Amino acid sequence: MEDHAGSWYEDVWRFLIGQEYPRLFNREEKLVFLKKVGPFEIRGSTLYRLGIDEVYRRCLEREEFPKVLKALHSKMGGGHFGIQTTAKKILAAGYWWPTVFRDVAAYVKACDPCQRTGRPTASTRWPLMPIVPLAPFKKWGIDFVGPIALATQWHQHYILVAIDYFTWCLVGKCAMW
Ligand SMILES: [Zn+2]
Repeated sequence: MEDHAGSWYEDVWRFLIGQEYPRLFNREEKLVFLKKVGPFEIRGSTLYRLGIDEVYRRCLEREEFPKVLKALHSKMGGGHFGIQTTAKKILAAGYWWPTVFRDVAAYVKACDPCQRTGRPTASTRWPLMPIVPLAPFKKWGIDFVGPIALATQWHQHYILVAIDYFTWCLVGKCAMW
């Protein structure tokens, strides 16, 4: 199993796998650490953390933060909401990391459109909750294109098109209608 070396949750992971405390921890530090580890749980090869609202959220790796911040703040459907709302959207989407509020604050403050318009959207409501694809081939969009004038010899007038939202890989197949 992976050891997630270098990850912010390396110590937590190692403890959950083998009950191994971080090196050089004294008794007091071990007790504090034990409390910290409490809400975490490994499912498959993914770490989850139980929030005070009793919801398990996937712990993201550092390199995933910008992708999620972008998707839930500034990308289409993000809405450029303020710090609290953007952070809540991330939690509502099922993601967590220890510095989520701090990172959202820094991201919103540095967001160019938010600076240009003066401030982020004040509303605490958001109309859309996009599902953020974090890996290839997890989320597909499917549609028909047609009717096409130039039908094939089998009289196929439509193309069934599937697109992967992560890689933008496009798959097409002729369909007979
Ligand atoms: Zn913004």
